[in-house]
Amino acid sequence: VAAVGLIFIGWWGSSDTASLSRQVLWLNVGVAGAIVGSAGIMAWLLAGRRAVGKRRRRVLPDVAVYETAVAASQDTPNDAVVAGPRMTRYHRASCMLVARKPAVRRVERKIGGTKAMRPCGVCRPEPLSEQ
Ligand SMILES: [Zn+2]
Repeated sequence: VAAVGLIFIGWWGSSDTASLSRQVLWLNVGVAGAIVGSAGIMAWLLAGRRAVGKRRRRVLPDVAVYETAVAASQDTPNDAVVAGPRMTRYHRASCMLVARKPAVRRVERKIGGTKAMRPCGVCRPEPLSEQ
């Protein structure tokens, strides 16, 4: 609001003067308004980013625990690949993204119909072979 006010004041002040120096003075007021507006937008974006981070920490409590689970899922010798009926990606059976999903079933590695499916970016299963 302060930025819009400053820009309006700059426009209003310069609108009825023919003197270049007076117009530049009012232009400076408008530029100050633009700077205040930019600072306000930056503060607004940072507040939003902080709120997103706070919510993410509530959903994923500890990133270290999450990364340990991802590393453990990548070390699992069991290379079973699973997917759900409407999923576009397939996962390792131990992937956190398919945990507790009831419709998830094992995908055979030689199924041709899974060519459209892509590997999960979190658990990074082996690519499905085309046979
Ligand atoms: Zn996955």
